[in-house]
Amino acid sequence: MANSIETRCVHGDDHKFKDQFQSLSTPIYQTAAFGHPDLGHSPERFYYTRLTNPTRMQLEETVSSLEGADSTVAFTSGMAAITAVFELFAPGDKIVCSADLYGGTVLLFDLVERKKGLILELVDTTDPDALRAAVTSDTKAVYIETPSNPMMNVTDIRLCAEAAKKVGAMLIVDNTFLSPYLQNPIALGADIAIHSGTKYLGGHNDCLAGFVCVADKAIGEKLYKISYTMGATLSPFDSWLMLRGIKTLPVRMERAQQNALAIANWLKMQPKVKKVYYVGLPEHPGYEVNRSQSRGSGAMLSFTVDSAETALQILAKVRLITFAESLGGPESLITLPATQTHADVSAEEREKLGITDAFLRMSVGLENAQDLIADLAQAME
Ligand code: PLP
Repeated sequence: MANSIETRCVHGDDHKFKDQFQSLSTPIYQTAAFGHPDLGHSPERFYYTRLTNPTRMQLEETVSSLEGADSTVAFTSGMAAITAVFELFAPGDKIVCSADLYGGTVLLFDLVERKKGLILELVDTTDPDALRAAVTSDTKAVYIETPSNPMMNVTDIRLCAEAAKKVGAMLIVDNTFLSPYLQNPIALGADIAIHSGTKYLGGHNDCLAGFVCVADKAIGEKLYKISYTMGATLSPFDSWLMLRGIKTLPVRMERAQQNALAIANWLKMQPKVKKVYYVGLPEHPGYEVNRSQSRGSGAMLSFTVDSAETALQILAKVRLITFAESLGGPESLITLPATQTHADVSAEEREKLGITDAFLRMSVGLENAQDLIADLAQAME
């Protein structure tokens, strides 16, 4: 029987790379190339780091083991990973996407993918009827985030898998917000799980990375070729930072989500707070679906305050919490998606989604929950 996820985070999978000294930490193979044994005999596995590297391979096998994937490719960032996935498609292919997505992904659609001829249809995937109606015989893939960035919308992964399978389409899930510790889309029927490793997997706000985890060997091989042809494979040192971060993923996730729940419950009581979006609150419309497909609620939350002025005041006055983009590290961060992470989403689309000037998103970190609450309280005064 496979070891539990906590153990796999620390020790990797069964094929843990062992060096001659039995180092506990995977060595950093900081080399561009590897020597050939002799003419006519290529090295067995490693010849050039853009293609293969032992440190990156150990990381990819570890992430595959956490996501229950056949294989994983490690990229230089989450966006490089997403870009590579869209290289699987051809002009004219129709892809049904969640309407609420990370702003960088929306920009990728507008700036690159639509120009290349992909038909990207934005749909409210939280609505089963809208989803079923959108996924038609010409659909090649369904692309979702759940919970989504920044509205924390929950989409039913099993339902998407069912709708996609019916028409022979792929299901792709950006699993960044919950990490493989809390949610495994492939086990629920997805073909591909994507991560911005920059966030919870790396976990220390010190390194960019991205992962594409695939269920099917043939798709994995295609993506591997795309990755080294694009030249966006993760460096040995950054692969090592990721491996180091992953060892503590379970304890970090547990602590961060405990803090997030405490903050969400406190925010609900504040007169200046109009609405709290956290999938761990029973009143969240996606609470039951999220419970049915994950092992937790994560540590991302958003909230709307009474005015744009209050939002700006909070950003200006927080002392412990940093006004910054990104998420998933030890430090709690707060941002205004309308002008930061989602500035490239059209004003009309932002309005429709609820990303107003009074809407804040928080990545809850590992500090003491009461210290964080005290900081928010003084910032709201
Ligand atoms: N996916 C989600 C859900 C994100 O929030 C982000 C970045 O914030 C990305 C992908 C892109 O990741 P990266 O910044 O590592 O390129």
